[in-house]
Amino acid sequence: MIKIPFNKPYVVPGSENYLCQAVANMHLSGDGPFTKKCHALLEQVLGVPKVLLSTSCTHALEMAALLLDIKPDDEVIVPSFTFVSTINAFVLRGAKPIFIDIRSDTLNLDETHLERLITKKTKAIVPVHYGGISCEMDTILKIAAGYGVPVVEDNAHGLFGLYKGRYLGTLGSLATQSFHETKNFSCGEGGALLINEPKFAERAEIIREKGTNRNRFFRGMVDKYTWVDVGSSFLPSDILAALLYAQIEQHEQIQQKRKLIWNLYFSRLSDWAKENQIDLPHVPENCTPAYHLFYLLMPSLEARTKFIAILKAQQITSVFHYLPLHLSEMGLKFGGASGDCPVTESYSDRLVRLPFYNDLTFDDQMKVVDACLSITFNDLHLKNVKPVNKKYAA
Ligand SMILES: *Cc1c(COP(=O)(O)O)cnc(C)c1O
Repeated sequence: MIKIPFNKPYVVPGSENYLCQAVANMHLSGDGPFTKKCHALLEQVLGVPKVLLSTSCTHALEMAALLLDIKPDDEVIVPSFTFVSTINAFVLRGAKPIFIDIRSDTLNLDETHLERLITKKTKAIVPVHYGGISCEMDTILKIAAGYGVPVVEDNAHGLFGLYKGRYLGTLGSLATQSFHETKNFSCGEGGALLINEPKFAERAEIIREKGTNRNRFFRGMVDKYTWVDVGSSFLPSDILAALLYAQIEQHEQIQQKRKLIWNLYFSRLSDWAKENQIDLPHVPENCTPAYHLFYLLMPSLEARTKFIAILKAQQITSVFHYLPLHLSEMGLKFGGASGDCPVTESYSDRLVRLPFYNDLTFDDQMKVVDACLSITFNDLHLKNVKPVNKKYAA
């Protein structure tokens, strides 16, 4: 039986040429020719004033925290249902995380809780477009603007996804991308900061260049470069940018392929899911997904555990995430308590992600689909387990 992994790194065929070129260019550090090509292409396609590649999405978030001058005792509102970097970047500056629950349909930050959580200390709101399906951005942006709080989109899942015809990552003051090998576009480890408010552009360059005005020096705007601000080393090597450029050039084909995979899972599993009290992702009418992942919501933790084991026995790897951050070891230190984010707590126990990668073949995907379809309600349920509330009930 062949194994179907959960994720497989993707390299565009022919990327070797770009890698060889990058080496031949003899500009192996950051901001070489391929980095500049990535910046220009992303700025042009997304219509963003400034894009800066970074060593990771985590580092792009750290750049955002520096740009917003986050200080000890500031508060930052983030979903509890996210990857740790979404908040750690701000906690590194001394901020206190204020965890917000998610909506039961999109698993995105629940904007109806937002206003209640904003205080005088709130210095940023960080929505995550879960799975590449947009948060309710008009409402979030309106509330944020009303209180003068900047919005930083953690768009690690959402590159090329749309909200009301606008690209995700172009809506907040700042946005961050991930090019980790588990994401739609990757160069192993990498990321980007999208700067939608031009006032942040110059300082972002300085922070990214160890707190120096080196970029202005290269442009001939100052005659020597020196230490002018805080900063760190956030530039990826141009060799990585070469791998990434090959993928961004092919963004339409890659997204088209991922759309087919997403739609195939959705269409083939819909009836089965209904019959077995399993929920599939929900896409609001005004959103086009970035097709980052495909999940199933099981009726209970026990059902999920059994489901993963049954697939594993057929050599198919499925995984779950995220553990609620407010209940993590660190989250508890910030006062997190059970019951703070009930939707997060329930969904985190029940969500499972199916294999999803750019190279997933139709045949392999159909093996996953068939394996799912062969599992019935009775296989998944222990005796006396009451099904939990349905996702769309509320
Ligand atoms: C992957 C991910 C990150 C971190 O990305 P890196 O590039 O690995 O630092 C941050 N936020 C979310 C939501 C992610 O999925």
